[in-house]
Amino acid sequence: MELKYNGKNVYREGVSAEEINLFCEGYKAFLDKGKTERQCAALAEKELEALGFKRYTGEKMIPGEKYYYIYKNKVVAAIAAGRKGIEEGISLIAAHIDSPRLDLKPNPVYEDSDICMIKTHYYGGVKKYQWTTVPLMLTGVIVKGNGEKVEVSIGGRDEDPVFYISDLLPHLASSQMDRKLKDGIKGEELNVIAGTVPYISDGEEIQKPVKENILHILNEMYGIIEEDLLTAELTFVPALRARDTGFDRSMVAAYGQDDKVCAYTSMKALEDIENPEKTCICIWADKEEIGSMGVTGMQSDFLVNFLGRMAESENVSLYDVLDNSVCLSADVDAAFDPTYRQVYDQNNSARLGGGIILTKYTGARGKSGTSDAACETAARVRKIFNDNGVVWQIGELGKVDEGGGGTVAQFIANRGIDTIDCGVGVISMHAPYEVTAKSDVYMAYRGYRAFFEAE
Ligand code: MN
Ligand code: MN
Repeated sequence: MELKYNGKNVYREGVSAEEINLFCEGYKAFLDKGKTERQCAALAEKELEALGFKRYTGEKMIPGEKYYYIYKNKVVAAIAAGRKGIEEGISLIAAHIDSPRLDLKPNPVYEDSDICMIKTHYYGGVKKYQWTTVPLMLTGVIVKGNGEKVEVSIGGRDEDPVFYISDLLPHLASSQMDRKLKDGIKGEELNVIAGTVPYISDGEEIQKPVKENILHILNEMYGIIEEDLLTAELTFVPALRARDTGFDRSMVAAYGQDDKVCAYTSMKALEDIENPEKTCICIWADKEEIGSMGVTGMQSDFLVNFLGRMAESENVSLYDVLDNSVCLSADVDAAFDPTYRQVYDQNNSARLGGGIILTKYTGARGKSGTSDAACETAARVRKIFNDNGVVWQIGELGKVDEGGGGTVAQFIANRGIDTIDCGVGVISMHAPYEVTAKSDVYMAYRGYRAFFEAE
């Protein structure tokens, strides 16, 4: 009997590289299309419709049928109705589809020294210096004065222009180089360069002619005026495609893998299960990167409202549903990075290629701000993984007091649902271009699927 615990590697456990790579082709395609929560929700709606999921409207569910529900264009719930009643508990997986990015300020456009510039306000925890001198795309939604909605997307296609945030040339950066790294680029320096051509009108002197020209271009493209920008939801995200990484092509580099990696793999798992014992729900939430606040964040009542309506139509008690459900909070964890080994506790850090990660707690300063999963919950998931050949590892976000972080786990656990974090290891989390191991991505799918299929 082997008494020692030894970490595993997915490739050593007889998992086919072909299967791993094939799965990740779909993942990369998803990353290239879904950069924001709105885009991801729209993609999910299209795909789930095509797969025969029915739009959930609060009806009594038929066991074996699948449903989907889109909340305020930003949250997705996909449901596989189980053979057991939901009062016996639901198997939930919750991931988030928002990622760190640069939102436009409400009044974003200005002209300075014959350059049209756009002011941004970063969303989520970013290292600001990383967002300069990378190609950016503009995406989002504008609701015009008459209520008409316009979708904006510039920079995603090869023929599109991109946008750009400058940084100082090293030759003139001697005082900037003395700043602390966190102030290397300041929030008010994240200004996007958006145009240089002046608007020329016969005989008329135009104030801020470059800005005027950009407003004309925007008016031609989208029929909007500057006031429409004040209420718009526009954001800059990296205009970078998902790419295979390394000589062995074993990794994926892409924007927004936190947390589209868990979103994609958990939704694929829900799509692929058939006629489950328990009702399974995959949730894609918004606003995790800013504390899960707001109407589409996991701190909002939408989950309880949604489950409450479901309980009503099934004629069972919501209290029973909440009490008996189990949730995997599907979010990424920091994968051990040998270059920065000093911030990781090697025995308690996830490894690239080590499989899906179980994280019992997140938080900071003595586990503050975590749901701290019970050992019964952790052991239950561990057993499901072991029984189904899912390669898994344990993870913790770095050394004690080195920093910390949180996920949606605490907000779901606060509703009385047993919850544990379970996701994929990422290198350079929250950078414009993040890295995951394909074997871990595939193992996340296998793990989530085994969880949904468990009795
Ligand atoms: Mn996350
Ligand atoms: Mn994050």
